[in-house]
Amino acid sequence: DAYLGAIDAANETFNAYVAVTHDKAREMAKASDARIAAGQAGALEGIPLGIKDLFATKGVHTQAASHILDGFKPRYESTVTANLWTDGAVMLGKLNMDEFAMGSSNETSYYGPVKNPWRAKGSNTDLVPGGSSGGSAAAVAAWLCAGATATDTGGSIRQPAAFTGTVGIKPTYGRCSRWGTVAFASSLDQAGPIARDVRDAAILLKSMASVDKKDATSVDLPVPDYTAALCQSLKGMKIGIPREYRVEGMPEEIETLWQQGIAWLKDAGAEIVDITLPHTKYALPAYYIVAPAEASSNLARYDGVRYGLRVPGKDITDMYEQTRAAGFGREVKRRIMIGTYVLSAGYYDAYYVQAQKVRTLIKRDFETVFADGVDAILTPATPSSAFGIADQDMAADPVKMYLNDIFTVTVNMAGLPGIAVPAGLDHKGLPLGLQLIGKPFEEETLFRTAHVIE
Ligand code: GLN
Repeated sequence: DAYLGAIDAANETFNAYVAVTHDKAREMAKASDARIAAGQAGALEGIPLGIKDLFATKGVHTQAASHILDGFKPRYESTVTANLWTDGAVMLGKLNMDEFAMGSSNETSYYGPVKNPWRAKGSNTDLVPGGSSGGSAAAVAAWLCAGATATDTGGSIRQPAAFTGTVGIKPTYGRCSRWGTVAFASSLDQAGPIARDVRDAAILLKSMASVDKKDATSVDLPVPDYTAALCQSLKGMKIGIPREYRVEGMPEEIETLWQQGIAWLKDAGAEIVDITLPHTKYALPAYYIVAPAEASSNLARYDGVRYGLRVPGKDITDMYEQTRAAGFGREVKRRIMIGTYVLSAGYYDAYYVQAQKVRTLIKRDFETVFADGVDAILTPATPSSAFGIADQDMAADPVKMYLNDIFTVTVNMAGLPGIAVPAGLDHKGLPLGLQLIGKPFEEETLFRTAHVIE
């Protein structure tokens, strides 16, 4: 009731929830009370969570913040959310996001932008919460849920976490099942939690992760108790600092924050080494070929027949066209056009195949560093703090918006786990985050190291 009351009072301001499931939340909470009374409490019994609108929730509005999925209520539950309910968690509602998870500011949502609960000192300007999991990050930061599910294809968990002073982890590709999560770019998409601190994120990921026969890319590895890793010292651990992440035009205070992070990890007993990840500069352009290519294929299914919106036309082709023209927003259309272009005959080898080769080189960069004994890599999470809603520069030039993902996309291209952890405030009093990147399936190392920073 406290969380539902907080949402009812504040959601109009933040626009973090696109649907609040009052009745379901109370019903689930009652069932939790009964299980607690019977001594059968699960790991997340009674914990109220917000669910990104990308996760299919049985009988509950699931639209990926797109007009084209108007009225879609899945008859099935995503594996990630099913795992949370099995452990006793309670659903408060569905969280706003960029349409089909395409964006870095939550401004591409059909439901309108989400407001960051933070504001710069002495300013009334509304800021973005980051994206695409902007609703998840804002809801956690504003105490409108105890934790939230999110997804990360190129930074969408870590960048909004950094912009809102919350913790977000993208686990290794394959750690969480993608089944029942609306697909954006299937070879990059991963679910993960956004939480108020590292411990909460560790508890949530433990519940969300599982092997799943319905997702052939999910991996059959034991899911450790991540909280057990939290209080271990960093003695004997080697942390790499990649020189390529010192990008041109990066504000001085991001560099200072990074140095501060290095100092904290050193104090905790870690050895700091300089490393090189030579193909880093190609990650962003290659990502913006691979992700739209996969998206253009995944989004072909929204044809006015199978899901949601249908705009009638003179014949079936016209109906497809009318529906897709009305149903998709600008950014989604841009991705579909880029994706279709780079996959088309004549350009496929020049763009798509080339980008896949670059992706292999990026992955090898990390493998080389890890083979040299590095346990985790420390970088800034974002090149700036949260920016204003309707930023003119970014509205005029989508590439400027894409540059937000410069530190986060490499991790998805290589399938590695990455965590964003709040590390300080900038001169405007806005949160800044640091990122730790780990070896495949070694999320424990990230939790342990991030816990020192938070
Ligand atoms: N900002 C990136 C994009 O728009 C990442 C999105 C994501 O991780 N879902 O593609």
